Amino acid sequence: MYILVINGGSSSLKYQLFDMDTRKVLAKGLCERIGKGGRMRHNAVGRNKLEFDIDIPDHTFAVRLVVKKLTDPQYGVLKDMSQIGAVGHRVLHGGQWFSESVVIDDDVIAAIERCIPLGPLHNPANLMGIRACATVMPGVPQVAVFDTAFHQSMPKSSYIYAIPYKYYEKYAIRRYGFHGTSHRYVSGRLAEIMGVKPEDFNCIVCHLGNGSSLCAVRGGKCFDTSMGLTPLDGVEMGTRSGALDPAVVSTLCARLGKDASYVVDQILNKESGLLGVSGISSDFRDVNAAADEGNERAILARDILVHTIRHYIGAYAAEMGRVDAIAFTAGIGENNAALRENVTDTLGFMGVKIDKVKNLNPDRKEELEITAPGATVRTFVIATNEELMIALDTERLIKA
Ligand code: ADP
Repeated sequence: MYILVINGGSSSLKYQLFDMDTRKVLAKGLCERIGKGGRMRHNAVGRNKLEFDIDIPDHTFAVRLVVKKLTDPQYGVLKDMSQIGAVGHRVLHGGQWFSESVVIDDDVIAAIERCIPLGPLHNPANLMGIRACATVMPGVPQVAVFDTAFHQSMPKSSYIYAIPYKYYEKYAIRRYGFHGTSHRYVSGRLAEIMGVKPEDFNCIVCHLGNGSSLCAVRGGKCFDTSMGLTPLDGVEMGTRSGALDPAVVSTLCARLGKDASYVVDQILNKESGLLGVSGISSDFRDVNAAADEGNERAILARDILVHTIRHYIGAYAAEMGRVDAIAFTAGIGENNAALRENVTDTLGFMGVKIDKVKNLNPDRKEELEITAPGATVRTFVIATNEELMIALDTERLIKA
């Protein structure tokens, strides 16, 4: 079976086509600047890469374009559209309704709509992708895979904020957590690699990319995670502050004469994090290079990242009482050996010790154990693969 995985953003649509017999990607690409011009990138196995400007007025046009390229005699890999057995969608917010992936029907669409106040930027974009596929590929089953679903297993003490309980009851204000598909994939791979049953196993997954979150996985299920009601909470990120005293918001509002939504949406979400502290870039590679050259603010931004990651690892170890493994994943976690070394440097007290040479990953392995002899907690680098997870969920639900 061939499965198309779609990640719909407000002005972009990313796609990957999987052959589920081999679990390999046959083609992938991106439509961007939708509604504001348009550009497409398309790359299929054994074909020349394509990149071109084209007017893409909406998501339906983008999906038509994707199907056209996938079935193109010169650039495609399919004979015709009917070979696409199902479509799997990444959906940001499933609120409290979804603790796992589901086949999309009218009720599911209505529930994703009800979650728009919780994911105002992403859920409408995800819905545009879903509706576009329904228009272009009528009758092809579609599955929604939620970023929040894996975290629905958290105990109440992890997800209830210590604010008046009525706001949880009235407005569902609570910790939800994100990157759930990545945390599920990586923790599942860890259990497989270590040859243990997920239910007997505790780990901490550090997903460190532009957006970053840590997840404490106890007995194969999410026990706690660092992102909250929205993806702003937790560790320092590219442009997001991570956790801070909420009184920072009211103080900045008063000083700047701005309202809370400006401070939160603009300053804390877009101007903070690595970018805000370093004044250089939101990209860790740039900040790291500047820090290596001695730039003090870049060093500070990098130190804060290390500090906040350790902070959550320590908290999760204390909460779970036992940690069998730690994994680093996503852009920074997979690629930056120095950061992994710095983070783990103080964790010897809890049994974490890494092999500094293996940690350099000279062969650029996608899955690598970096545990040093004598460690009681094993440490790994695992390349995340949210798209494969979405394709696997889609296949399983369609076959069921
Ligand atoms: P997203 O959250 O957008 O999916 P990614 O997982 O792609 O993000 O991670 C992006 C981050 O990873 C950026 O900060 C980038 O600097 C960092 N990154 C990517 N490659 C490297 C590398 N080779 N060394 C250090 N950092 C890297």
